[in-house]
Amino acid sequence: MEYLGKLHLAGLEVDQVAEALAHEGWPRFRAEQVFRWLHQKVVTNFTSMHNLPKPLINHLQEKYGSPLACQIILQRESIDGTIKYLFGLFDENTVEAVYIPEKDRGTLCVSVQVGCAMNCSFCATGRSGFVRNLSTAEIVSQVNAVRAALPPERPRLSNIVFMGMGEPFANFEAVMAAAAIFQSELGMHLGQRRITISTCGLVPEIRRFADLKTQINLAVSLHAPDNDRRSSVMPINRRYPIEELLDACRYYTSRTNRRISFEYALVEGFNDSHGDAQMLAEILQDMLCHVNIIPVNPVEGFQRPEASRVQRFKQVLEAQGIAASVRKERGTDIEAACGQLRQVHGRTPSSRTERRMRSESP
Ligand code: SAH
Repeated sequence: MEYLGKLHLAGLEVDQVAEALAHEGWPRFRAEQVFRWLHQKVVTNFTSMHNLPKPLINHLQEKYGSPLACQIILQRESIDGTIKYLFGLFDENTVEAVYIPEKDRGTLCVSVQVGCAMNCSFCATGRSGFVRNLSTAEIVSQVNAVRAALPPERPRLSNIVFMGMGEPFANFEAVMAAAAIFQSELGMHLGQRRITISTCGLVPEIRRFADLKTQINLAVSLHAPDNDRRSSVMPINRRYPIEELLDACRYYTSRTNRRISFEYALVEGFNDSHGDAQMLAEILQDMLCHVNIIPVNPVEGFQRPEASRVQRFKQVLEAQGIAASVRKERGTDIEAACGQLRQVHGRTPSSRTERRMRSESP
């Protein structure tokens, strides 16, 4: 199979599919049929596209090999219902996604890069270094592969969060193109408010995103209430300190009227004191926002505070008028936290003995 990188079918909008097929002499309605099969019915095999003429199926198969630009090579299910997926890419790299079911919805947390260049010291992905950006097709295919693989009794995917491996705003075009495909009426038809992008704080891209004036949710990883501490765990803060970051956030709100969600990983003895909560409330005082407190997923040098201390932190924020919630922990038994499955798994799927699943082969 010839790998087409950015031009893989799965990463094309319906107009682009039409353009690609027009070169081969196919009319527009064929492109719409193909697009529906890919993003509405989510087949994992070109031969399942029943209403297409055989020569077109053959052409697609020859040119693209599979409707998916990445394949599930391993999956682990937690006792709480969370499912972690490991995907193999055409070049042997791997990325992860996590399915998080709730009563009436299913969220998928997707990756946007192989590794990450931001180097946050508490992040398993950051510690593994940066390899490359994912293409739009590779981002979209994580979602479609999971939609195709999910057992029918599970809540269907209703929300997508760009909170897996990598920095979405460092792969801006591919992420926005994937978000557009998720919204497509002929495809998944997901509302913008069901999509969330999380950034470590790339200020120019936050402004660029604000200017698009979408209703896509923005989450910003803050994690510390002052520059010294934020710079010590998030190198990006040396380039874009808190004041500049919060200015860009205010700009986002002024353009979109949307509330920002600030992520704050609570680390014992680092950023979890009464005074830290007050300082945080102070810097966010004038902002339309919500704080998502995440007891840190323990990695070397970063431990989570006791539950009572987490609650106290939340109460101090609320007493200062800042809306806050504590993220419920899920899937710790399956290494569901960022970057962990890939770390445990290494790069050779065949060396693992645990339950694994190959997705339907073409
Ligand atoms: N690069 C983006 C999105 C990917 S990470 C960003 O920085 O926002 C998604 C979230 O998980 C971020 O808030 C990140 O800071 C957080 N995170 C990373 N490692 C973590 C850990 N060990 N414990 C808790 N949260 C962590």
